[in-house]
Amino acid sequence: MDRDTFLVWLSEMDGLTPEQRAEAARVLEGPSSLESLLEMLEQRVGAERRCPHCETPGAVIRGRSNGLRRYYCRGCGKTFNALTGTPLARLRHKALWTAFAESLRAGETIKQASDRCGVAGTTAFRWRHRFLRAAKTDPSKLRGIVEADETYMLDSRKGDRKLDRKPRKRGGKAAKRGLSREQVPILVAADRSGSTFSTVLDAVTSEALADHLAPVIDKDALLVSDGGTAYPPCAARLGVTHEALNRSAGQRVRGDLHLQTVNSRHERLKALFRRHRGIATRYLDSYLAWYHLVVLPTQPSPRAILACIAGLISPKQPACISNAN
Ligand SMILES: [Zn+2]
Repeated sequence: MDRDTFLVWLSEMDGLTPEQRAEAARVLEGPSSLESLLEMLEQRVGAERRCPHCETPGAVIRGRSNGLRRYYCRGCGKTFNALTGTPLARLRHKALWTAFAESLRAGETIKQASDRCGVAGTTAFRWRHRFLRAAKTDPSKLRGIVEADETYMLDSRKGDRKLDRKPRKRGGKAAKRGLSREQVPILVAADRSGSTFSTVLDAVTSEALADHLAPVIDKDALLVSDGGTAYPPCAARLGVTHEALNRSAGQRVRGDLHLQTVNSRHERLKALFRRHRGIATRYLDSYLAWYHLVVLPTQPSPRAILACIAGLISPKQPACISNAN
């Protein structure tokens, strides 16, 4: 349409009834993030319509409920929908999910999220953890040069009833620097294609490192670490080649080997932690899911965030941009 015709067409909008206006607006917006999510969920049930309760296929459609088709299983007589059996199954207020996904993307605090969505703070808190627990954040395999390094987070028992030490003021400093009982180690491993893995460790031992890395590291990978003593036996357990950089001797780069990818990942993780000061240790896993869901991917859409939360896709990891040169 040329510019003049378009202006004429626009001027005719003045003659629309309120209903026509609303209809036109819906067409212009396209399907909402929520609608397309629900559509994707329905597709997952597919033609097979297998019952999540008893595995019998061929359920019949019995109307709709809460925006989703309701299926009736003739095997067990129960009904189900596309969310049954997922952590989102009983989560209400679907219409607000997109706004909540926006809030997660913006890294908002509970207060900001509850203001944005118009729900109580306790609801925003419950949603955050339910969404993040549901999020599918499995990385693709770590291949090629894989950098692994730990970062540390101050142990916070905030909200825990039993404290085995004196309570410390929120966001305080550990008494000792470096590794101590008051620091929780978090392992981050990343390859040069951008695939990233992270997990909370009980301790930095070769056994713990190998247990966590075994499912995600490719057998042909080259594991790069700093001089930490747990890594050589970890690599031996995993059966992968290992190279260590002796950073205490000032060695930061050796040929293609460096830890810049993983260390830049650490920085972004710490920025998330800083924004949500005083994170309770028992919620660290949720924050790591958040990190994989919205911090690492480049500008994820609410649509993509909801699809990850519904377990339909994994977050898209950006390619590595850091380089030794
Ligand atoms: Zn059934």
